[in-house]
Amino acid sequence: MHTIPKLIESYRAFRDSDYPEHARLYKDLGQGQHPEVMMISCADSRVEPAEIFHANPGDLFVVRNVANIVPAFEDDGLAHSVSAALEYAVTALKIPHIVVMGHGGCGGVNACLSAVESGPVGTCIAPWVSMLDETRDKVLATNPSDPQKALELAGIIMSMENLMTFPFIREAVEAGNLILHGAWFEIESGELHWRDKKTGAFGRI
Ligand SMILES: [Zn+2]
Repeated sequence: MHTIPKLIESYRAFRDSDYPEHARLYKDLGQGQHPEVMMISCADSRVEPAEIFHANPGDLFVVRNVANIVPAFEDDGLAHSVSAALEYAVTALKIPHIVVMGHGGCGGVNACLSAVESGPVGTCIAPWVSMLDETRDKVLATNPSDPQKALELAGIIMSMENLMTFPFIREAVEAGNLILHGAWFEIESGELHWRDKKTGAFGRI
């Protein structure tokens, strides 16, 4: 019952203290944005990119969705929100880094895993997380000790591979103007695991 009054109170606290502290920055940002990192992360309320990376407004160009999935490029003239954000980030803003950040205990990844035994869940969730099905089947075939975490990591790699199906991304990567990164955040410990470019493995940083 008190949720929205509390939200408004929090906004006023922002306007009274956080904003004045960064007023110069907000005034500059009012003229345009020049973020150097695009972050694709989960909609999960526990995984907050700006908090994790101690970022200021204007630092991160963020897209969040269920299970931090980047669908493969489709040239079908339909509306694709992740693709539109990618195109703007890479071709207009010329952002030099894209980070796909997954996380532990991801409900979207869990929905894809549990679909194997209990069937698809949700009218909208099922088709979205089914983009992980092929990756899931490959992961399960290796009998991982922790299928959930294994699919969270494999899903990040799948999205990084899907990024390369976008012509403008492939072109920017090949020209040396864009670097793709993978990361996985563990909520309880606050630890970030970064994907090593050479080995492809995720390790604590
Ligand atoms: Zn998630």
